[in-house]
Amino acid sequence: MAALEYLSIQQAHDLLVSKQVSATELVQYYLDRIAKYDDKINACLYVRKKNAIKQAEKVDAKIARGEQIGLLEGIPYTAKDMFLTAGVPTTAASKILKNFVPPHSATVIDKLKSAGAILIAKVNQDEFAHGGSTENSAYKKTANPWNKNHVPGGSSGGSAAAVAADFGIFSLGTDTGGSIRQPASYCGVTGLKPTYGRVSRYGVVAMASSFDCIGPLARSAEDAEIVLKAIEGRDVMDSTTIPSNFKANHSGQYKVGIAAGYTDNIVMDAVRQHYPNTTEVELPSGELALAAYYVLVPSEISSNLERYDGIRYGARSKATSLNDTYTKTRDEFFGPEVKRRNMIGTYSLSAGYYDAYYEKAMRVRTVLREQFNTAFEACDVIVTPTTLGPAFAFGAKADPLNMYKEDILTVSSNLAGLPAISIPAGFDEATKLPLGLQIIGRQGEDATVLEIAKQIQANSDWHQRRPKL
Ligand code: GLN
Repeated sequence: MAALEYLSIQQAHDLLVSKQVSATELVQYYLDRIAKYDDKINACLYVRKKNAIKQAEKVDAKIARGEQIGLLEGIPYTAKDMFLTAGVPTTAASKILKNFVPPHSATVIDKLKSAGAILIAKVNQDEFAHGGSTENSAYKKTANPWNKNHVPGGSSGGSAAAVAADFGIFSLGTDTGGSIRQPASYCGVTGLKPTYGRVSRYGVVAMASSFDCIGPLARSAEDAEIVLKAIEGRDVMDSTTIPSNFKANHSGQYKVGIAAGYTDNIVMDAVRQHYPNTTEVELPSGELALAAYYVLVPSEISSNLERYDGIRYGARSKATSLNDTYTKTRDEFFGPEVKRRNMIGTYSLSAGYYDAYYEKAMRVRTVLREQFNTAFEACDVIVTPTTLGPAFAFGAKADPLNMYKEDILTVSSNLAGLPAISIPAGFDEATKLPLGLQIIGRQGEDATVLEIAKQIQANSDWHQRRPKL
């Protein structure tokens, strides 16, 4: 059998079509890898063994009949536990959804299923995606495949670790303030947060509805693009979705803006090698963005999480009155970070505080959008490091404020709804851990962001480095 380690989508497809490997063997390879390494990495919350094999057998039967298969047909992938998957447990890494098995799947899961991709595992995350290290999961701590004493990042930490450890060819994540890009950066993989509305949120556990974006974590920008094309587009079940559009801005030379203050950062070398004529641009204030983010996101969280009342979904505490049912259930089954955000959100939305916090933060959001528009007059994309540094050690950001500060370079694109990608672009000297480069584009210009990422990856091999498990 051909070597199967770290295949790209195209490579796996070619092996299937040329019958060098069967879809069943391919699925079995990932199941074996998970069985062999996941007690060290702890990325998976649920492994879908029997049904994944069954789905693969259908693909094999098709190939045996001489029928053509699509690019994603028979391609095994993993998904963050935020995605509803019919008949497969979906917990959002929360105890409140411990035994929840959804009756239907998210639009994106259905789209991937019709494209023939095979879901092999649901993977770990911060509870309800609140966090940046996956340490807030109610179930387990996922390790960074590059150094098991370090976090994989979050909140899509299981997805990033699963791609880096080769537990699937790609993964689906969600990004509300950086949760695809930051773990991608920490684990040395490629992670794309599309334009807000590009991908349907229907059937995805909500965090903050005006911020949440769904996207791929993959081995390369090329793979991320294949996945995005399969999952994007208008969905009648999500009125915020926008029609498909895949044209890059123009195919010639792009004007790349480097965010002022980061020109000397080592990940910028990857950019400068390919784009010698970068311009320096003023990035909207990260500090203001962070403050606005941590008012607006908890506000939306407190509203979205009202539905976990012990009656409609998941777990319920023993109680003697209706009110007790609500309070006891939420007290018993929500973790500390989820409670903290519910309290902050309820406070900032309360009469008397609304003007001082929520409304002010909304104004900052508008100003930020305008600042981005101004910056994009001088360039097609803005590049920054994805994070301030490499993955930190477990427990190093136990103080929630220190954890929040980690998001300073990623939240602005969510506040403004812009597409942004993180690609591997070097290693930290001291820790030898991967570093990521972030490319932010104009609203709707996901294709431009992907094009530039592909150009950089065509001329570098950071995305082909692998951790020793
Ligand atoms: N780390 C950020 C937060 O905790 C981002 C989370 C996310 O994008 N889901 O809010």
